[in-house]
Amino acid sequence: IVQFQSVDKRFGDFEILKGFDFNIQRGEKVVIIGASGSGKSTVLRILMTLERIQGGEVYIDGTPLWHEPLPGGGSKPAGERYLHRMRTQVGMVFQHFNLFPHMTALRNVIEAPLRVLKLPRAEAEARGRALLERVGLGDKLTAFPAQLSGGQQQRVAIARALAMQPKVMLFDEPTSALDPEMIGEVLGVIRELAEESDLTMLIATHEMRFAREAADRVCFFDQGRILEDGPPSQIFGEPREARTREFLARVD
Ligand code: ATP
Ligand code: MG
Repeated sequence: IVQFQSVDKRFGDFEILKGFDFNIQRGEKVVIIGASGSGKSTVLRILMTLERIQGGEVYIDGTPLWHEPLPGGGSKPAGERYLHRMRTQVGMVFQHFNLFPHMTALRNVIEAPLRVLKLPRAEAEARGRALLERVGLGDKLTAFPAQLSGGQQQRVAIARALAMQPKVMLFDEPTSALDPEMIGEVLGVIRELAEESDLTMLIATHEMRFAREAADRVCFFDQGRILEDGPPSQIFGEPREARTREFLARVD
């Protein structure tokens, strides 16, 4: 459902992705691991249209992200409106939850469905309530972000992303800004989602135990390349590459 095809990405003179290929199947739960600076966030940010690419193409459910198809055939570079429409199909949860501070938990969750999907209010609220219950916050619908713990705020952020019914959910180190005692509750919610839903999920994390338990497939990033890619049992149990072994020895 997600395809990177020969993608080039540069920051000035520094080329982080070169001819980068990466496919994710519908429903797959993919965890990406790798050293700081290896390109994990860059890949997620490209999918979220927060970073442009210099070559190649990315497809979401078969539709090109960076080249807007023209009605008469052919294509042109994606315009802002087109990117906005494509972006609504991707849910993202960042390290910092950035909820709207002046809105309640429920309002945070229903805002985009109301404004972007134009859902009727009753339907948006029903969906919002169900999602907040699902992340264990059924009793916090009217709380404001400042009244919630970091872990609770991050769970609201997850519900908010899910409310758009995205084709793919991205998580970029969703627990690395949290106090240790809150990491477990957030990883627990994400793991439940991974187990119980048919969502396609792409998760960058430094939590190796979580990766082992939640992933269908683990990709080890090294200097903008996927050096090794396989089921968690292989990556953690019998990594083929020396660099993967070195990385795992360092983080575990
Ligand atoms: P971390 O584990 O620290 O989050 P990461 O794997 O997510 O690391 P990226 O954020 O994707 O790494 O960064 C990949 C490389 O691209 C790094 O060398 C980084 O310095 C560089 N980079 C990322 N964003 C920019 C930017 N806006 N301008 C210049 N260089 C950038
Ligand atoms: Mg990162």
